Amino acid sequence: MRAWVVGTPAPIGTGPLDRVERPAPEPGPAQVRIDVRCCGVCRTDLHLAEGDLPPRRPGTTPGHEVVGRVGALGPGATRFAVGERVGVPWLGRTDGTCRFCRRGDENLCTAPLFTGWDLDGGYADACLVDERFAYRLPEGLADEQAAPLLCAGIIGYRALRCADVPPGGRLGIYGFGGSAHLTAQVALAQGLRVHVLTRGERARRLAGDLGVDSVGGATDAPPEPLDGAVLFAPAGELVPVALRALDRGGTLAVAGIWVSAIPALDYTADLFQERRLRSVTANTRRDGEEFLRLAVRLGVRATTTVYAMDDAPRALADLAAGRFAGAAVLHA
Ligand SMILES: [Zn+2]
Ligand SMILES: [Zn+2]
Repeated sequence: MRAWVVGTPAPIGTGPLDRVERPAPEPGPAQVRIDVRCCGVCRTDLHLAEGDLPPRRPGTTPGHEVVGRVGALGPGATRFAVGERVGVPWLGRTDGTCRFCRRGDENLCTAPLFTGWDLDGGYADACLVDERFAYRLPEGLADEQAAPLLCAGIIGYRALRCADVPPGGRLGIYGFGGSAHLTAQVALAQGLRVHVLTRGERARRLAGDLGVDSVGGATDAPPEPLDGAVLFAPAGELVPVALRALDRGGTLAVAGIWVSAIPALDYTADLFQERRLRSVTANTRRDGEEFLRLAVRLGVRATTTVYAMDDAPRALADLAAGRFAGAAVLHA
């Protein structure tokens, strides 16, 4: 089969992805092989290709928003039938035994494996998944619609909950890419007032089309104080900007796996009055199941730009340059 791998991490314009030919992987115990139909492009893939996230091992295949059909079952794999359509997400495996797993916070597992970082992901004709961590995908959801839900959607949903906005409250969204445009739809459907603050012209237009309450520049003040905010942009300089936009007692949740340097915070201006700053780390399988059900019920629609699997490097370069709004999806 053919697969993309991260050779030596480097700026995306210099071609850090290599195309390789390798045997299709054989599923081990409790694993299934997924024949990839499409794979969403997440900013984490870009961080991996460019070396913001240090590679866990050489030659990893990125991609953790994988939609495909079960092509083969490993020994003892019973959850899915061959031919069934499933989704492969970022959370590839947890140990199930550490104190965080035992208390229901498997997103904080001390020995996790992530798809497309530790484990080979979906920028390939096929990949493996531990069947316990795959999702059954609702009928009636097209492959390219389902893919962005699997990381962008699920993590955004967790981030929205972490921002702790009360019913009818005011949410700020900083940065408006794949994850944010799905999260905004959930927030609007839940009756929140949504203010989007982002620099990209295409992103602003998409936010407006989705019916958010206001759209401003990344460092503009929103038209009203915020009960909670989510920082989706990987831009540390926006942390104090977003904190200052919070009302008393508000929470800023940082959704990204990687953020550039955060400037020094001023305690009085940025944090006092019980404003909170927290990160969002991966997700639990329960978050995923909950979000997928909710997305179908609310009719959450991903705005997608489709690329051929052969064009994965171009999709990542376009993501880096903000050349599309919404989410990119690679088609096998
Ligand atoms: Zn654990
Ligand atoms: Zn992701």
